[in-house]
Amino acid sequence: MHKKYSPVQPPKRLLMGPGPSMVEPRVYAAMAQPVVGHLDPYFFEIMEDVHSLLAQVYGTNNHFTMAISGTGSAGMEAAVSNFVEDGSKLAVFASGFFADRIAEMGRRQGAQVVRLEKPWGVTFSADESRDFIKREKPNVVAYVHAETSTGAVNPGEVICEAAREVGALTIADCVTSLGTMPVEVDRTGIDIAYSCSQKGLGAPPGLSPLTASARAMEWLHKRTTQNHSWYLDLKLLDEYFGASHRYHHTAPISMFYALREALVVVSEEGLEQRYERHRRNHLAFVAGMEAMGMSMHVAAGHRLPALNTPVVPAGIEDMKIRKRLLDGDGIEILGGFGPLAGKVFRVGIMGAGSTKENVLLLLEKMEDALKAEGYAAPASGRAAAEKYYTSRLT
Ligand SMILES: *Cc1c(COP(=O)(O)O)cnc(C)c1O
Repeated sequence: MHKKYSPVQPPKRLLMGPGPSMVEPRVYAAMAQPVVGHLDPYFFEIMEDVHSLLAQVYGTNNHFTMAISGTGSAGMEAAVSNFVEDGSKLAVFASGFFADRIAEMGRRQGAQVVRLEKPWGVTFSADESRDFIKREKPNVVAYVHAETSTGAVNPGEVICEAAREVGALTIADCVTSLGTMPVEVDRTGIDIAYSCSQKGLGAPPGLSPLTASARAMEWLHKRTTQNHSWYLDLKLLDEYFGASHRYHHTAPISMFYALREALVVVSEEGLEQRYERHRRNHLAFVAGMEAMGMSMHVAAGHRLPALNTPVVPAGIEDMKIRKRLLDGDGIEILGGFGPLAGKVFRVGIMGAGSTKENVLLLLEKMEDALKAEGYAAPASGRAAAEKYYTSRLT
């Protein structure tokens, strides 16, 4: 007996978790175009567009600005494996899951890892950051700009400045910040930044935009030990992406089409407008949550626009709320994990999914689900968000 397979037909979902986020139809359309060779002149044009569009979103003039073949974690591993070598000292600002992942990658590269710890979702003050770096004098400093596990932002200016003073390179995880808030690689002084295609940029998962400063590339070319990873060796990748186009691996052509189209969408919208859209929809959501008597895990002023972490009300199981949203309305949000398991929801309002309609719908459906589980909101979250939108007209 042959099993009969039906065509792929995923259920209709509204993706409002920590990623992947919604993908626009024109991005899907780009992906469905015929594959050309990875050494085809047309593909080099696509790569060139990806390079210049990424440079705009990253705010950089870095020569090495390209998408690594792999998800955000591939970008992370490219950053760590190229710039952290056996015996070097890696300083990590650790207050969330993705900072821990960077530290683990550093350990596997043979680095001595030192950590400045804070509870998940708490940020580091300028003085603490500076003191830590001055005290440890590391070779490389890593921080997570937008901690998707907690909803907190870690600004990089002070970290990058202090790192430069002790001669260290900085790695910034911009996986959830890129495309949702200013990253400003050059102005901030970041040496290596990486991101992903599926969160703030609005393409499917599969590529990891990475940029490295001239200073970082200079260090890399002088590095005497070999990167343990062949696939993520930026020296080899640079030869493929660069003028000589020497074959390294078969780039995922369709994913590059998708990323290029998603970046064109970003560019057409305009960065300032895009950040403002994310900011407004985030603030409307928070207004809704607060009207419903709920609080946010991260202190005001340190919250990510793209990833919101409302605290789960006492007596409510977050799993049950999430199941009601998914089963009843096809809406995906996620819960916390690690020290935040059961304590917060993780609500992504990012990329193409960051719209007024989605915020209002989600607030309404969350209110219904919470009510069904025994939590009575003191006021309508949807109404509060609507009021926020009308009080701020543009
Ligand atoms: C999602 C995420 C990653 C990992 O990206 P993948 O695409 O899942 O490999 C790394 N860092 C942060 C901050 C993230 O949000």
